Amino acid sequence: MSARFKLGALLRGGPIPHNGSMDFPYRTYSSYLKEKYGRPAYRVGVDGGFSCPNREGDRRGGGCTYCDPFGSRSAYLGEGDMDLESQIRRSLGAMKKRYRAQVFMLYFQAYTSTYGPVEELRALYDRGLGCYDFSELIVSTRPDCLNSEKADLLASYARPGFDVWAELGLQSVHGETLSRINRGHDGEDFFRAAALLKKRGIKLTVHLIFGLPGEDRAMMMETVRQVNRIRPEGIKIHNLHIPSRSPLYREYELGELTFPGSERHISYLADALELLHKETVIMRLTTDTPSPRNSVPGVFLNKSEVSRRTAELLLSRGSYQGKRLDKINSMA
Ligand code: SF4
Repeated sequence: MSARFKLGALLRGGPIPHNGSMDFPYRTYSSYLKEKYGRPAYRVGVDGGFSCPNREGDRRGGGCTYCDPFGSRSAYLGEGDMDLESQIRRSLGAMKKRYRAQVFMLYFQAYTSTYGPVEELRALYDRGLGCYDFSELIVSTRPDCLNSEKADLLASYARPGFDVWAELGLQSVHGETLSRINRGHDGEDFFRAAALLKKRGIKLTVHLIFGLPGEDRAMMMETVRQVNRIRPEGIKIHNLHIPSRSPLYREYELGELTFPGSERHISYLADALELLHKETVIMRLTTDTPSPRNSVPGVFLNKSEVSRRTAELLLSRGSYQGKRLDKINSMA
């Protein structure tokens, strides 16, 4: 067991630290960044002015059913328009002041940040990276919005000491679920896009949602198993949240939808972490949509509580990230 998984120390008792420390029985993002940079590092989330192919053209008026008009826009950017340079300047200033931060990663976060011609993407990424001596580039996108040219472009920014990450939304590998939530792509699109990234050394983070309509525990764990096979460098899991301006909210109002509460979500998380390789960085276990946008669930544990309780559950099982893989390997 690596130094990251000080399970023995935890089993000897004492409270679990809240700050994503080295003592969690899974590989937290903060511990990964601290190992890498020797100090905390911060993401500067920006809105590059993109839209989303799942909301336009033939699909106009569509979009994923859990998505509201703000897409995945960073909460702290607010709702107003701001040019890229101003967004970066503002975020850097705030984080330096608040955290005395020194290491920053540029994160194209909102909507589909590879949705555009390659030359336009290059110009935009260059503009952003030209604003500061960033340590990483992170681009969030959809599996059906990546091709070889775009993957080449992303790879062109990588160099020793400067990683490029792509965050790919999958949510579920199950075709019926992806149709049900109007994702506009299938599982094959995801695995094809992931292969393009992996082949070029771009680090991959996969987004999953637990508690999607029609899914049970077995289906969620099957998604985790299939994703684990391609060894993503990072994973973000969150519970189903329904903003009031999303199509799914209508289903909720009609009483056609239920979704897991905190305790159930935590039990899914513990099962999922046991299935994931130890090297995969656990970047998120829950989400919190800003309160004016988030109607349900109204009551849910905050991020640090979900992390802490997930760790406690694993520990109560004498377990840790990747435990079930250890078991399979020892039987092989
Ligand atoms: S891909 Fe993202 S931005 Fe586009 S509709 Fe789905 S959740 Fe919204």
